[in-house]
Order: sequence, then structure tokens, then C-alpha cells
Amino acid sequence: MSDLTKLTIAAARDGLAKGDFSSRELTAAHITAMAASKPLNAYITETPEQAVDAATASDARRAKGEAGKLEGIPLAIKDLFCTKGVLTTAASHILDGFTPHYESTVTAKLWDAGAVMLGKVNLDEFAMGSSNETSFYGNVVNPWRRDGDDSALVPGGSSGGSASAVASFSAMGATGTDTGGSIRQPAAFTGIVGMKPTYGRCSRWGVVAFASSLDQPGPMARTVRDTAIMLESMAGFDAKDSTSVNMPVPNFEGALTGDIKGLRIGIPKEYRIDGLSDEIDALWQQGIDWLKEAGAEIVEISLPHTKYALPAYYIIAPAEASSNLARYDGVRFGLRVEGKDLNDMYASTRAEGFGAEVKRRLLIGTYALSAGYYDAYYLKAQKVRARIAEDFKQAYLNVDAILTPTAPSAAFGFGEKGDDPLEMYLNDVFTVPASLAGLPGISVPAGLSKEGLPLGLQLLGKPFDEETVFRVGGVLEEAAGFTATPTDWWRG
Ligand code: GLN
Repeated sequence: MSDLTKLTIAAARDGLAKGDFSSRELTAAHITAMAASKPLNAYITETPEQAVDAATASDARRAKGEAGKLEGIPLAIKDLFCTKGVLTTAASHILDGFTPHYESTVTAKLWDAGAVMLGKVNLDEFAMGSSNETSFYGNVVNPWRRDGDDSALVPGGSSGGSASAVASFSAMGATGTDTGGSIRQPAAFTGIVGMKPTYGRCSRWGVVAFASSLDQPGPMARTVRDTAIMLESMAGFDAKDSTSVNMPVPNFEGALTGDIKGLRIGIPKEYRIDGLSDEIDALWQQGIDWLKEAGAEIVEISLPHTKYALPAYYIIAPAEASSNLARYDGVRFGLRVEGKDLNDMYASTRAEGFGAEVKRRLLIGTYALSAGYYDAYYLKAQKVRARIAEDFKQAYLNVDAILTPTAPSAAFGFGEKGDDPLEMYLNDVFTVPASLAGLPGISVPAGLSKEGLPLGLQLLGKPFDEETVFRVGGVLEEAAGFTATPTDWWRG
């Protein structure tokens, strides 16, 4: 049998339906691939026995004619989603041994649709980062390398384990979460597709919180169609999340008509930032040409407050994080470091349990929310956020979607940006504005850099118009014809 791990979710779904292979066989192929991918450090916890049981149950359901939309498809789950009875770490020492007795809504929906969990994948600690270097469980390695150069590269972050697992064919798809770019940027760095839905489209219930007004779960897979298939099963109203929106879930896969004639695509002039590399600029221009050739109308637009998005994000996200992470006190979850009294126990637990980047964010966030500085920082940042949302609202009076690069560079090496948090934060320059405005966005692999690394283009849509994002994304994917895959050096 040909290598089952190379199939798309759509092709595997058809193969399973026709009886060409079983979920047990498909799952076994992925368990082997997962075991062989250890040098990438994509998985924190592998659950192969559970996967085999789930695949067996899936085959039985199919035999009875009860196949769900993702019946028998093996997936990796970002270790930020609580999974019943399975260690959930958020890649933090402070959650040592935390095994939830409940299942996140999004993962519960995936299992209801018949999907099979392969394991829990690595991420930046509490999803704070753009390179996966902040995980307590060690960094994830990008399956891609520069041409003729064996040095390891970052997979992006924070959903770097999800991206690396999917790009290395050790999972057919993965869940991610995106607070400021954590689905889109790692997708771009690893040559896969990552989709961040509109804020409120997927329930956050049971997802370890980073910045609650920004966090949004979404799918990562190797094709636009596969992300559309996954999102259909992940999305939907959930009474347990007060920001979940009660709207019907459209047939996202059906939105992939291939027809974008007459659609108006905005090109924001403020995204031509100083120092944008020639190759990213050229790729962006190429994307514009592809969409034009497919019949879209290209419109120059202005999003005037773009340059304030990063500073506003790096106040708001840490402020919310400092509040959300107050719950890790050594009493209720995970790690406890004993102290001479209760306060000392809290302090010792947090000092040992959190890594340097998380501590930096907690300090910034607590400072920005403190009585003397609340107005100067937090309130100001909220005002900027409102302006940014308004910029998009105005632009969308005139266009149907917006095309930009996903990230300002291709994947970089470990430690290259480690000393300078500001340089690291700059990675999010193209993804953060849409996060602040709560908009849907997708990253589609569109080409290779001069060094042979994948580069992504980002499409942004109107609130709850994921369908247009998928439709245009599908056309972009088709035009780009990105079929490159990394050499499988990690298999030794
Ligand atoms: N890189 C951004 C940050 O560090 C975004 C992370 C995310 O989306 N979770 O905050």
C-alpha cells in the first residue's frame, strides 16, 4: 500500500469511505511516522494505544453506517486543549502532572465527528512566543532546512508542534490556537495551511487561556480544503463560552468553488513596512497577480493605524495573561514548591514554574494594569484596538478580502532572535492587527525563499465570512501550486 501518511484529509476520507483501507491502518501508519519524528520534538505526549482503540471504534462505527465527518482521521492536538485523562501541559513546568477530568469543547467536537487523537503537540509556554523556543519541553524543530545547510530552524510559534507534525506527515491535521498569529505564522514557516477563524467561531472552553479577548482555536493541515473540513467540525456555538457566537456553521468545504471573479481584494499600503525583504515583497506581488488573473479586482486600501497594532497587542495580551495566569498558585493545578508559609509557597511555585518569557509578560501585564499606569497603557491600548478594528471596518466597505504576507521572513535559526524580545515580537507584525480586530485569516504556502524555505501569504476576511477566506485561499493555493515537501532527514 502506498504511504498513507502522504494523503490529504479529503483523500483519506474518500479512501476510508470506499474501504481502500481502515482507520486502524491509517492510524498505524501515523503512529509509525510519529515515532520516527522524535528528532523534531513535535509531540509532548504520544497516545498511540488510545489512538488504536479510537481507530478500532471508528472502523466499527463505519461498518454500522455511522461515519462522522472526520471519521477515522488521525489528528494531533495542541497541548493547550484540555483532554480528559491525558496530561495537558501548556508546555509549562507549572502544569506538571495536570490531567484534566474534562474535554475541551473543540476536541470533544472532533471526537464526535469521528477523529482519532495521536497525541498532544508542543508549543511555546502558554502559547507565548513566535519560535517555539519557550517550551519547558524543549524547542520544536522545523522539518525544513535551508538548501545545503543542516542547521536546525524554528517551526514558528506558538503552534510549532502542530505545524511540525503536519509538515512532517506525522499527523494529517492539527488543532492550533491563534492569539496574535500562532496558527498563521507557524503554518507559513513550515509550508502548510493555517486558518484562524473569527473570534467567537470556535469555543475557547477547555483551552488553557492566554489572552481571552484574542485567543481563538483553528485548524492546521496541508491543504485549504483540509482546513475547511476540520473547521466545520471544530466550530459552533457553545453555551459554556460566553464569547462563543450563536450562528450556524456554514458548509466551509462547499465554499471552495474556485471562482473569485469580481471579488474585490484589498492590498493595504501600510503593510509595505520598512525593511520588508525583496523576496517577500515579490511573493506578495506574485499573489496579487495570481488573484488578478483569476478574475479578482485588486484595490489599494489604507489601514492607517497598522503601525500601532504591535505595541497595543504587547500591552493587551500580557495584561490579560497576567490576570489569567494568576490561577497558577500551587494549590489548584500542577506544580507545588513548598515554602515557609502560604505566600512563600505561591511565590516559590510561580518562580520555579514559569519560564522567562512568561514572567516577562506577567511583569509587563501587571505593570500595565496597575493603578498608576492603567490609563496610560492599558486604556490607551484598548483605544488603539478600537481604531484598528474601525480601519478594517472601513476597508471592508470596499473590499471582500485582504491579501498580505503572513510573516516578514522565512523560518530562522534557534537563538537568532532569542536575545531581543522586540525583534521576536516584530515577527507578528502582519498577523496581530487581524487578531486585535477579531477577524478570520488564513496562511497559504505560496512559494520558496532563495534558501529553499516555505513562504506564506495571508488572506483576511470580514467577521464570520470564513467562506470567502477559504474560497480565495483555495484559488491562491491552486495558482501557487506549492507541492514542495521537506526531505525526511529526521527519519535518520
Ligand atoms: N507570537 C505572539 C505572542 O507571542 C502570538 C502568540 C499566539 O498567537 N499565541 O504573543
